Amino acid sequence: MIDSARLELPEFAPGSVWLVGAGPGDPGLLTALALHALDHADSVVYDALVDQRILALARPGAALEHAGKRGGRPSPSQPDISARLVELARAGHRVLRLKGGDPLVFGRGGEEGLALAAAHIPFRIVPGITAGIGGLAYAGIPVTHRKIASAVTFVTGHDRDGSVPDSVDWAAIARGSPVIVLYMASSHLGRIAARLVAAGRSPTEPVAIISKATTAGQRVLVSVLADAAAAAAAARIEAPTIIVIGEVVRLRATLDWLGAR
Ligand code: SAH
Repeated sequence: MIDSARLELPEFAPGSVWLVGAGPGDPGLLTALALHALDHADSVVYDALVDQRILALARPGAALEHAGKRGGRPSPSQPDISARLVELARAGHRVLRLKGGDPLVFGRGGEEGLALAAAHIPFRIVPGITAGIGGLAYAGIPVTHRKIASAVTFVTGHDRDGSVPDSVDWAAIARGSPVIVLYMASSHLGRIAARLVAAGRSPTEPVAIISKATTAGQRVLVSVLADAAAAAAAARIEAPTIIVIGEVVRLRATLDWLGAR
């Protein structure tokens, strides 16, 4: 239990939903509000990317519900998950909707918040450390750097239908963003890299692929834009991966505090 009075944390009211980011994996990266919610929740509705060690922190007696793909069964649709959150809240539960990373970064937290608002369910949004920032920090890669990167773009490498997103203007990103952080991109990395190179990025620009960032199974593969997809396949890099393209990757040679311990 954390000292919620000293931290001036709000009450987790029965009948409300907290949309909470659990961070990328390491339980040490949870916020005080996330721990407070785990201490008090009656129901925890969690996604596949939430680390088991974090679920183990839930109040004994809390009901844990998985809201993602499991054991080959189809995953519940987004409206089903939102409807379930409304149902649990209306039953008077303190509902903790726990998501990997930050709930509003490629996490559909926005959609769930809209559904809760439409149903007049009180809710709170608790940000978490997103994989595209925390995962990079655990690989010793600064997401920006005053001398070499003054802008960063977070982009999904996966469309709703599973293809390379055409709604993304890859050429504009190639021209305008010295650092590009790709979520959900492992299966399309080759095609994305080709589009960036076609738009003028150097084929020898460094790329880091961080697998299972901040967990005990973290692996980091450093490559270059032209070779990264093949290198990841050859090294059998496992999902989830966060991918960073840019000169900042070179700083890892000095800043890899985790590997240097
Ligand atoms: N809301 C999450 C992102 C959800 S989308 C966040 O803010 O981090 C899912 C994608 O996030 C994965 O495909 C992967 O690209 C990335 N991701 C999440 N956790 C990760 C981890 N521990 N290591 C590497 N990538 C991760």
